[in-house]
Amino acid sequence: MPYKDLVKRKQCHKESSARYYLKTLKFKRQTLEGKIKHNETVKRFYQKHPEKAIQNKNRIFKKLGDKINMTLSQVKWYLLRWSQAVRKRDNSICQNCGSIAILSHHIIHKKNYPQLMLNINNGISLCKKCHDECHLWGN
Ligand SMILES: [Zn+2]
Repeated sequence: MPYKDLVKRKQCHKESSARYYLKTLKFKRQTLEGKIKHNETVKRFYQKHPEKAIQNKNRIFKKLGDKINMTLSQVKWYLLRWSQAVRKRDNSICQNCGSIAILSHHIIHKKNYPQLMLNINNGISLCKKCHDECHLWGN
């Protein structure tokens, strides 16, 4: 086989194996066990690289801001206000288990409906544990 073809074949194999890996990854993340494992991996990564966590958050907020014509700092400020307002409405009580709520959760994901991102009716106060559970189920 000519060398050129050999290289081509190797590249082809590399691509298909990468695609296969991503496919299995996607499949694995569909199960609850896989989701927990994935979340833990992500968590560990961001604990090791806290600057990456900030970068990623800013990137997500910027993307959201672009959709509703807001700057990054505006999105951050309004989201903080929204979070405070939701917890004030619920008296800082977790609406799932009744312990102290430290987080506000978007009922309809802000990624899917950025226009509902700052609607107080789209928020629910949750404790850290219930909030983590919420995201595990893909909300
Ligand atoms: Zn709770």
